[in-house]
Amino acid sequence: MPESTTPPSLPPFPPDALGITSTIPLEVPLAASRRVIDLNNLFVRSADPSWFIRRAEAEGFPRTCCSWIRGLYGLLRTAGIEGAIFVTGGDCSNTHAMMETLLPALRTVFTFSFPVPPAREALHLELERFAAAFGTTLAAAEAMSRRLAPIRAALAELDRLTWQELRVTGAENHQWLVSASDFGGDPDTFARDLERFLATARARPARRPALRLGVLGVPPIMTDLHIFLEARGAAVVYNEIPRQFAMLDDQPAATLTDRYLAYTYPYGVGPRVTDIRREVERRRLDGLIHYTQAFCHRQIHDIVFRRELAIPMLTIEGEAPGPCDPRTRLRLESFLEILHERQG
Ligand code: SF4
Repeated sequence: MPESTTPPSLPPFPPDALGITSTIPLEVPLAASRRVIDLNNLFVRSADPSWFIRRAEAEGFPRTCCSWIRGLYGLLRTAGIEGAIFVTGGDCSNTHAMMETLLPALRTVFTFSFPVPPAREALHLELERFAAAFGTTLAAAEAMSRRLAPIRAALAELDRLTWQELRVTGAENHQWLVSASDFGGDPDTFARDLERFLATARARPARRPALRLGVLGVPPIMTDLHIFLEARGAAVVYNEIPRQFAMLDDQPAATLTDRYLAYTYPYGVGPRVTDIRREVERRRLDGLIHYTQAFCHRQIHDIVFRRELAIPMLTIEGEAPGPCDPRTRLRLESFLEILHERQG
């Protein structure tokens, strides 16, 4: 059983809200006036994320299941969440099995499946099915997409201020982009907070980092990776998967089908390599950190990245929430030294 029987306090979960464990076409539930909350952010930002992991283990989850899955399961079992949307195609089989264990306890469940390999017609049909399940239409979801466009454009500006003007830190970039998967549960408040942040960031002096880095992979479970790197003169100017989650309008999509076809995350490593290559060049990166999650099948993509990306890359692994462990810190420092030496 958990060491403490009292779970960490959480913000109250609105009874009508739906939890998500992976990025979904958010425009659809929002068009149906449903509130959506990303459980990943709730889990990792709680006062004691490990509590939820221990609860999952106490209920039989194997330790060889990744900490995100165990944590999300523990959270779903604890937080009084009655409805959820799961991605059943294009995510991972662990998510699918977690959903199956939770089904009896959930009052409302929706699913969305990205067609793998990506196919326009299949995705369009799946979006229509998803909209119908919510009692809305794809046309209404497209209208919601147009309403959300200024927020996505503001996020693109935040990203540009990160890599082009160096006025936004890699940690701030990461936080804002991962928060865009559900717009903080309230798009209007999110938009106002984002505009305030951008006004402050634009007034800052530009930083002058010695190195420009990208972080690849699922969002790191360690809490201080970006801060650790930036304290050593290495600015993180590219957060690969968080940028995908946020669907920035620096590559405007005409329709929702276009938007979710351009989203690389569900479709295997090939589209990711294309996206990473383009951003490495555009952002003039000196090196990449490939973050991998212990017990995640995506770790295997490291082989492809090493074969396909012609840029120095360090692969690190995280397991539990918390700061970087001493070995990882040492490896990061050695990697930065090598990059400094390459610069001469
Ligand atoms: S880290 Fe990997 S195994 Fe864990 S939920 Fe994400 S994709 Fe699945």
